[in-house]
Amino acid sequence: MSKAAQKHGGSSAPPGQDDDICPVCKSARYLNPNMRFLVNPTCYHKMCESCVDRIFSQGPAPCPVAGCGRTLRKQRFRRQTFEDLQIEREVDIRRRVSTIFNRREEEFLDLRNWNDYLENVETLTFNLLYNIEVPETEAKLAAYAAQNSDSISRNAALASAEHDSTEAAFAAQKQAARVRREESLREDEEDRQDRLREDREAQERIAQGSTAKVTLKKSTARRKDGAKGAASSGNAGPSAAPAFEIQGLKPVAAPEPTKAYDPFGGLRIRSEYFAQQRSCEHPWLDKAKNDPAIVTGGYDVREYCARAMVEAFAGMGVFVDDEVGTGGGQAAATERAAIAAGTDNRTEDVL
Ligand SMILES: [Zn+2]
Ligand SMILES: [Zn+2]
Repeated sequence: MSKAAQKHGGSSAPPGQDDDICPVCKSARYLNPNMRFLVNPTCYHKMCESCVDRIFSQGPAPCPVAGCGRTLRKQRFRRQTFEDLQIEREVDIRRRVSTIFNRREEEFLDLRNWNDYLENVETLTFNLLYNIEVPETEAKLAAYAAQNSDSISRNAALASAEHDSTEAAFAAQKQAARVRREESLREDEEDRQDRLREDREAQERIAQGSTAKVTLKKSTARRKDGAKGAASSGNAGPSAAPAFEIQGLKPVAAPEPTKAYDPFGGLRIRSEYFAQQRSCEHPWLDKAKNDPAIVTGGYDVREYCARAMVEAFAGMGVFVDDEVGTGGGQAAATERAAIAAGTDNRTEDVL
């Protein structure tokens, strides 16, 4: 366990209260809600901001926490990221180790070697974390860093390039999303402007009564074959009507949704090449038609016939008449196939 943790854990105050009292000046957050605590990664002793200012503004000074006495510099003090200072320290140590031991899995011959390397690194990290043989471990770390400076800098460059490319991809995604959003906003705005313009134009037409009447006459004349009704209604003064008529004409795509509904989306179920008879007569099929053991289960011999016909014609594009060479058309072939499906002597050929 680290000294910081020991100091922390050994305090007699309850944990919640202890966190809110500066161990140096003993002022409490209760009295000063704006109090901020800082830690120095040299010894991870926590103290309040005003203590740091007071003690370290004149230059490096020993840590004021009893029993520590390590020399600290003001610029290394920072706010702690994690509530638990031991975790704060572990993260720092692991970060430092990982910048030196930054080998990649693809550099190793096999998984076994890679795992051995990871275990060695973890042992070293563990020693640093729990203050076991620290001088030897630091010496090992420094020796490795000196020997492998090339690979360390190469892998660091690789890692930063990967990080950059990930960042770039992320930024590109964000940019694309922003462009899409702006595009849709712009379209909305254009739609709104269009609607406003149409409204304005309609109002102007209403205001200019004569133009409106002419338009009304023309449009009604187009609509109605009887010309006499059009002339009278134009004068009769329903001047609001033409504005709505003109607006109604503008969306050209209005008749689009009145398309007939096609549940199969254009798929043709009926066969072009044959027509199936209601029943197929053949001695083969008699048993399947009449045997209760087969029929009771719901088996329908017509499905068998239909499948046989589809298989016979599927993808072949072959017509019986063309094969024979009599020169008959597709209709004749279809007719012949229909007969074949129903008659005794041809069924075997087709099936
Ligand atoms: Zn203080
Ligand atoms: Zn200290």
